[in-house]
Amino acid sequence: MIDSHCHLNFPQFNSDRHETIKRALSTGVVEFINSGVDYKTNLSTFALADKYDHIHATLGLSPGVAERKSKEEICRILSGIEQNIEKAVGIGEAGLDHFHCKTDSGRARQMDVFNKIIEIAETIDKPLVIHGRDAEYQALKLVRHLDNVVFHCYSGSLETMNQITDAGYYVSIATLVCFSKHHQNLVKHLPLDRIIIETDSPYLSPRKGRNEPAFLVDSVATIAKLRGIEEMEVAKITAQNTRRVFGL
Ligand SMILES: [Zn+2]
Repeated sequence: MIDSHCHLNFPQFNSDRHETIKRALSTGVVEFINSGVDYKTNLSTFALADKYDHIHATLGLSPGVAERKSKEEICRILSGIEQNIEKAVGIGEAGLDHFHCKTDSGRARQMDVFNKIIEIAETIDKPLVIHGRDAEYQALKLVRHLDNVVFHCYSGSLETMNQITDAGYYVSIATLVCFSKHHQNLVKHLPLDRIIIETDSPYLSPRKGRNEPAFLVDSVATIAKLRGIEEMEVAKITAQNTRRVFGL
């Protein structure tokens, strides 16, 4: 299995980061893609990727950060991404979050920053990892000219999901699928060659408390049941898809 999106650099793992990674490896997670969301976490993502062969980095600027940080800080994050993107496997997470941001001015700031991220994505041959909560369709409209796109933790409508996969993009299903009927329905309709899986650790645990990459086995079991195929097949297909899109 490959965890296509997690935040093992976050403070929730400060006391047992190495053990968490070992636990995932012993459960069958062979690689991880760790995502930064701002200047500091982009740096700590690189530090983790340097330390562990199994961990790859994507450099991001999340919509929440885009909305709250000063212009100067946004510029610092963007130039950090531009300067270091060659060492990463992708750009993101970045995008639009209309669930957490309800104001027009906040949404406009998110859009402005997301457009700058898209401009960087246009110059590289690596995927853009989109965070598009309650704004999946709006995000899709902005990136249609790109070749490589992943919708991380996809939670939007079936209609938009079909447009995403028709465009040749990838849909990442989070561990939410273990308990969310909506996500289970999405998985039933998702073409197998477009599906990748993630935990988004430390968030969205399918068990009690903190999520961790080892819990990806729960998603694999759920997806296998929903699709009527073997768990090994789910692990194999999703890992192949992740390797294809991120060039691992
Ligand atoms: Zn995330």
